Amino acid sequence: MIYLDYAATTPVGSNVLEKMRECLSVDGTYGNPSSPHSFGEKASIAIENAREQVASLIGASPKEIVFTSGATESNNLTLKGVFFGPIAGKHIITTEIEHKSILDTCSYLEKMGAEVTRLKPDSSGLIDLDELENSIREDTSLVSIIHVNNETGVIQDVEKIASIVKKKGCLLHVDAAQSIGKLSIDLSKIPIDLMSISAHKIYGPKGIGCLFVRKGLERNLQPQMHGGGQEGGLRSGTMPTHQIVGMGKALSLAQERMAEDHEMMSKLKEQLLAGLSGIQGMYENGSIERSVPNILNVSFDGIDAELLLHRLRNKIAISNGSACNSGAIEPSYVLRSMGLSEDRVYGAIRISMGRYTSNEDIDLAVHAICDIVANLRS
Ligand code: PMP
Repeated sequence: MIYLDYAATTPVGSNVLEKMRECLSVDGTYGNPSSPHSFGEKASIAIENAREQVASLIGASPKEIVFTSGATESNNLTLKGVFFGPIAGKHIITTEIEHKSILDTCSYLEKMGAEVTRLKPDSSGLIDLDELENSIREDTSLVSIIHVNNETGVIQDVEKIASIVKKKGCLLHVDAAQSIGKLSIDLSKIPIDLMSISAHKIYGPKGIGCLFVRKGLERNLQPQMHGGGQEGGLRSGTMPTHQIVGMGKALSLAQERMAEDHEMMSKLKEQLLAGLSGIQGMYENGSIERSVPNILNVSFDGIDAELLLHRLRNKIAISNGSACNSGAIEPSYVLRSMGLSEDRVYGAIRISMGRYTSNEDIDLAVHAICDIVANLRS
């Protein structure tokens, strides 16, 4: 079985796992990091070390990192935290191609009195920056934009977006769940206010992530989890040392390997595209030039993705979009919003590669897809 669904999640790297184990065993760092004794102190030191590793990857100060359970929670904390916080302005701008954790939270906030503008992308998956600028109103408190789309891999230009949004004086949040460790982002240079990160897309454990909160802004966020006051009161709950240490290690490895990973993914994507181009009526969904190299979204004329995935299921693990929405297989709202035809939307598959993907894996996947497409068409 070949795994080509790294955008859904990744395995935990062996050296990450080793670090996590040290925090769980009886001779390890298992103390409660808030405890006032040496066990607690040891855990707290491990957490602060991980905080530095995370901050270093994004050009932030460790004090600006708030650990959460993942990007879903970070997105919730951002949107609800700003809306229910002291900053005035009930208008939020986002896009139609965000992850559900943004879209559903926005719908919830609309019920609470928020006004939400959802920008549409063009057919290549990019947001129109003039439209963004023109949508900003006097009462806009927050703009929230996905950095790399989880279905298409298309990258929004967050640098330009930041300069537009900051000129107008509102807050900017970026969902970086799919870009972290894949694209370098230096928050000491780009004026992003809040940024959501997840560990499990980059060889860290599931159930851990963080929100970057620019210094001074913490006072403007209404906490969503109340209790022991951990994380400067922004996120109560006993801190999961093993998860945090795993995330720190995974992100520091990502920092070391970013150029190497990027080159490897680019070559794999080239190989994949060259192989699939042999199939007549193959369409690339989303701009290839403006996407991350680890994700490819394609459709084949006359082929239903559900059937294709069904035939592939004992050989190759790929997805028809975002894992969070499958189960009940729904056609992609991201591709629909890009204005693609219903055929292409229903035919779309997402292939995503990672550190453990080999050239042989890609060859086998290409052969299997070619065979099944030919078979389904006949
Ligand atoms: N945002 C994006 C763009 C994602 O791809 C995901 C994961 N599918 C999330 C948010 C949610 O992340 P998590 O699984 O850490 O809650």
